[in-house]
Amino acid sequence: MILKLEQLNLNDSQTAIRNLNRAKQPSDREVCDDVVLLWREEPASEELEIEQLFDKLKLRNCHWDLELRDFCSILTKHNLYATENRPMFTYADKVRSTETPDLNLNSKIELRNTKQMGKGLVAKSDLKFGELVFSEKWPLILVPQLEKKTLAAKGRCCSLCGASLTQSSHFTVINGLDCSGCSSVWCSKHCKKADITHNFLNHQTSKNTQIDAKGWREYEEFCRSNSADIAYSVGVMFARFLTDRQNGPRLKNQFASLAGVSQLLRMKALDSINVGGTFDASTGPEFLPDSSKWSTCFDLFCQAFPTASSEGITQESFLTDIGKFHINQVSGQIYTIFSHVNHSCEPNVRYEIDPHWGLKVYARKPITIGEELFVSYVNPLHGLMLRRRELRVNWGFICNCPRCLKEVESRNKTKIKPASITTEEEIEPSRRRSSLKTARPDLSDLLKNGVEFDLEIPNEQGLPSRRKSVRFDKKVMVAVEE
Ligand SMILES: [Zn+2]
Ligand SMILES: [Zn+2]
Ligand SMILES: [Zn+2]
Repeated sequence: MILKLEQLNLNDSQTAIRNLNRAKQPSDREVCDDVVLLWREEPASEELEIEQLFDKLKLRNCHWDLELRDFCSILTKHNLYATENRPMFTYADKVRSTETPDLNLNSKIELRNTKQMGKGLVAKSDLKFGELVFSEKWPLILVPQLEKKTLAAKGRCCSLCGASLTQSSHFTVINGLDCSGCSSVWCSKHCKKADITHNFLNHQTSKNTQIDAKGWREYEEFCRSNSADIAYSVGVMFARFLTDRQNGPRLKNQFASLAGVSQLLRMKALDSINVGGTFDASTGPEFLPDSSKWSTCFDLFCQAFPTASSEGITQESFLTDIGKFHINQVSGQIYTIFSHVNHSCEPNVRYEIDPHWGLKVYARKPITIGEELFVSYVNPLHGLMLRRRELRVNWGFICNCPRCLKEVESRNKTKIKPASITTEEEIEPSRRRSSLKTARPDLSDLLKNGVEFDLEIPNEQGLPSRRKSVRFDKKVMVAVEE
């Protein structure tokens, strides 16, 4: 037998690869989407220098015809990379708020205007670790979840709170929990009574001239097909302002006073609407790509509410209401008092929400009188870069809380070498620990205060399969068959 030796060059040059898979010039969006996706798959890669990030991206997309210079300018243009000449886009300075009327606070807290962050809540007495600081039974306006509306219309879940129904239809009917005008039902008398807008929005027979039920149906359908959940919420809220004679004016004034900014301006900070993007991640990105779509949305809103323009609603104020709802909401609802709590990545309060008893806020460390209450708007387990991106994109500010500043300092001291991402063996253990520490917060630090937090659930769906590896800290003995 003749053996032939052949030398194969596995390190094909970029040109060869380019020829193989016809080079393609990626769009700005494709580049940004893939960078953001890479950051999600490998959080430590968000700490890389631009050159190393470019190399990684080229490896993932070897058919892309993209030069480093263009890569830099795309990322800079879309706020994913800051240079000395061009800092990241923020919009916190455009956020406006006024004094909140009729805010019913308990004796433990008071509202104060802080220089840097506007309105904020401050402790009026010393608070113990774990103590209930305040609670809110109902949000400003309880908005049904848009995604549950189809089920609710068929009477399969509560029309207001969306809870799945455990009672029999017999029980529903004899307790009067069904609707006389359509197939909607409610889970309790309380929900039925609180669903003040149901009749006006859902029944064509409603005599109210301020709401057109047919127009509302079209608006609701538009919101559903464009995943514009908050535009839908703003509509439900507006209907409540119009129809609730007792509380409508107060609720309207309270909403008007909350911190607000146009959704159009927020959209400028968008990182990606694909998997991995952080823009409006908790509510679904309210991103209508061209402004004509927003005009359609507003026209449909005006059809549903024929008197909207005489109420002073313009397309601009409508978009500000959507932006305002986004920056103040938690789990798709606005809790009026809670919306005054500012952010810190090292929060001193935490919250719990339950559809049956509302929102409760607890001290997660001892708080002294005069100290401001802070909650974390983002998962505190996220690393520095991701936290700061989430906050900048969704609330328009660069977080400079004590924890962020500390982590920035230690990041600057120990910049990760590009190799640390791919070949961990080459890095001495001490360095590896510090680089991992920068990428992820120190668990023991977080646990020290008896902190509760959400653990990250890896979302493998729709993502390319990740590289999995097992690392042993010490040498291991293995038995092998001879
Ligand atoms: Zn209910
Ligand atoms: Zn009905
Ligand atoms: Zn921070």
